[in-house]
Amino acid sequence: MTTKKPYQNFLTNLHQAASTIKLSKSALERLEKPEHIHEFEIEFETDKGVKKQVSGYRVQHNSARGPYKGGIRFHHEADLNEVKALAALMSLKCSVVNIPLGGGKGGITINPKELSQSELERMSRAYFRLGTEQGVFGVNKDIPAPDVYTNPQIMAWMMDEHEKALGYKSPGVITGKPLEIGGSLGRSYATSQGGFFILQKYLQTIKKKPSQTTIAIQGFGNAGAYFAEIAHKAGCKIIAVSDSKGGVRHQEGAFEIHKLHEYKKAGGSLRGNFCEGDKCDITKMNQEKVHVVSNEELLHLDVDVLVLAALDGVIHTDNADKIKAKSILELANGPVTPEADSILEKKNINVIPDILANAGGVTVSYFEWVQNRSGDVWEENHVNEKLKKIMENAFDDLIKIKTDYKVPYRQAAFILGIERIVNAMELRGQI
Ligand code: NAD
Repeated sequence: MTTKKPYQNFLTNLHQAASTIKLSKSALERLEKPEHIHEFEIEFETDKGVKKQVSGYRVQHNSARGPYKGGIRFHHEADLNEVKALAALMSLKCSVVNIPLGGGKGGITINPKELSQSELERMSRAYFRLGTEQGVFGVNKDIPAPDVYTNPQIMAWMMDEHEKALGYKSPGVITGKPLEIGGSLGRSYATSQGGFFILQKYLQTIKKKPSQTTIAIQGFGNAGAYFAEIAHKAGCKIIAVSDSKGGVRHQEGAFEIHKLHEYKKAGGSLRGNFCEGDKCDITKMNQEKVHVVSNEELLHLDVDVLVLAALDGVIHTDNADKIKAKSILELANGPVTPEADSILEKKNINVIPDILANAGGVTVSYFEWVQNRSGDVWEENHVNEKLKKIMENAFDDLIKIKTDYKVPYRQAAFILGIERIVNAMELRGQI
């Protein structure tokens, strides 16, 4: 396993694209560094009445195209290197789908599973209170959203804390809120829906129909499970899926998605329905026509599309050579390292990169922000029609660059994102 270095990975991809387009030194220097790094010592009271301190961050990478936008993650491994990388990817992601926002990201180094609900609330409020007091967040300045282990309820607490400090309503300060207090219809599955629109466009370029497409999905959480459902409905064949405990592969055909939910519910994990520890019930597996696979085995399956919807850095130098999938769709952020990218390219495996494939989430977050600022409420169909158009346009824009520069998908996405940001910085007279 390679050691994680997300910001270095971002820089490698940035430099590669910059060299292809002969980007000026001044523009490159602006993109290499975030505009602002905010570090907070967050103090909150535990249920036992003891004061607890945790480290929090908000990185604001680039705002040439609009206010900073990006999620907040609560994770015991969240650190400045990771948050900086994710903030930079947000700048590029918003630019690739051409929405008028910049890039930011936040994080708190904590295992939220160790907190009670009331401790979680006090910590979330304390983080946002500090950011508001220091002028970090604001509806026209920096608009956070959920990310790993944060959810609509946490967004609601944070918005409430912000509005208390302002003394008036400002729902557009944060997105991914519950519907009842300004959330948008379609946001819960937007990442997967956007990813599927991209997959459809991609399949057209390789002249393949959804009904001829076999898919394996790593991750059966928000992004992976919705994606499985949407792709299955469109006729794709979902032949294998995994979660953190391992995975299941269909023995001969493809899964009905409700079966996967049933397995997960009954066994606590997909594999748990068939196995206890190392002991697996072969009769039950044969009845259901299921093979149990390990997390690593799922990555090596011979499928048309491998969808990565779990963690970063899962395809690296040690396993890239074993990948048999014909194409990879990155719903997770940063699941393929730059070193693995080079290996996959030599094997003619196309990687549809995160900054395009999972941009549906931020796009519908943008719609939420627009609705909040105008006081409007859009119907679900309207959200999805607009999302489809934005994702398809982004794909077409990227293909044009890919063809012009003869580069892989990730480089084309970086070039598209960089060129639009640099154009905005030039118009502002920043470079
Ligand atoms: P989630 O926590 O809902 O789901 C993650 C899933 O991955 C879970 O099913 C978990 O069991 C599984 N998992 C963990 N370790 C695994 C392993 N080793 N092998 C296989 N599966 C494993 O998270 P999510 O919201 O679905 O996000 C997944 C990824 O997508 C993250 O990288 C996130 O940043 C990215 N993403 C999500 C959204 C969104 O709107 N949800 C938007 C953009 C990007």
